Amino acid sequence: MSRRTRNPLAAAFAKHFAHSTVTHSEPVTPTMQRIRLVAEQPITFPYTPGQHIRVQINDPLSISGILRPGETLRTYTIWDLHLDERAIELRVHLYPGDGIGLAWAQQVRPGDPVTYWWPKGDFYTTNEAAYHVFLGEETASAAFGPMIRALDPSAPVYGVLESESPEHDLPMPGRHELARVYRHGASAVASQALLDGVADLALPEQPGMAYVAGEARTCQLIRNFLVQERNWPRTAIKVKPFWAVGKPGLH
Ligand SMILES: Cc1cc2nc3c(=O)[nH]c(=O)nc-3n(C[C@H](O)[C@H](O)[C@H](O)COP(=O)(O)OP(=O)(O)OC[C@H]3O[C@@H](n4cnc5c(N)ncnc54)[C@H](O)[C@@H]3O)c2cc1C
Repeated sequence: MSRRTRNPLAAAFAKHFAHSTVTHSEPVTPTMQRIRLVAEQPITFPYTPGQHIRVQINDPLSISGILRPGETLRTYTIWDLHLDERAIELRVHLYPGDGIGLAWAQQVRPGDPVTYWWPKGDFYTTNEAAYHVFLGEETASAAFGPMIRALDPSAPVYGVLESESPEHDLPMPGRHELARVYRHGASAVASQALLDGVADLALPEQPGMAYVAGEARTCQLIRNFLVQERNWPRTAIKVKPFWAVGKPGLH
């Protein structure tokens, strides 16, 4: 990853990405890595909690990147942003697999250069809902943290968070009682554990706003459950598939 590229395309896109250096890479849980990036320049982008950056694993503006765009950028939510320190914190799930994002998160060390593309995305909370429901697995939890932190502290929050087992639970901000469910070796695809957790969740009678993220088929099953079994309107459910088998690099 070259920091000082002479690629004329890079100059044209320069305002869309930032060069940074890794200052921390350490486990938060056995399968969740904290990665902290400090930008070379002051951070000036507009930002809403829940938005993501795209980490450049391979240069999308290089010849090989243009030929294989699916092997260039990977999407991670900004867990925390410290403008005064020009720092972005990520929480990256170390799942059992072989993606390029996974390999990057496993290997990256303090001092390594990282280019990231500026925040995007419309997966964020609105303070107008009567209450908020967060539903998803580890990757979703990495997005729910900043979304929950952005809510008014008095906002009612419910949720079901899935992980492999209790030691893999990502600590969440605030004092909210979020239910936890565990796969214990089962697949996160079309997750029965999460679906059962949602079915067991006691919610107020009127719909609030639900945020559903993580594996694509699980997201679909949960949305169907809320619509068909709980009579929620689709407009009250924000769904964001974060990964899908055979579809690398969703964003
Ligand atoms: C808006 C958005 C925000 C996201 N935020 C975060 C975040 O903050 N933290 C985070 O860890 N992830 C986050 N993700 C998910 C992350 O981008 C994906 O997990 C991504 O696929 C990882 O890239 P990769 O190169 O490791 O795997 P890919 O090359 O994309 O995929 C390779 C294979 O691995 C499978 N796979 C990918 N991720 C997982 C997984 N978690 N568990 C099991 N199998 C998987 C894929 O289905 C595919 O078959 C986010 C995704 C989106 C769209």
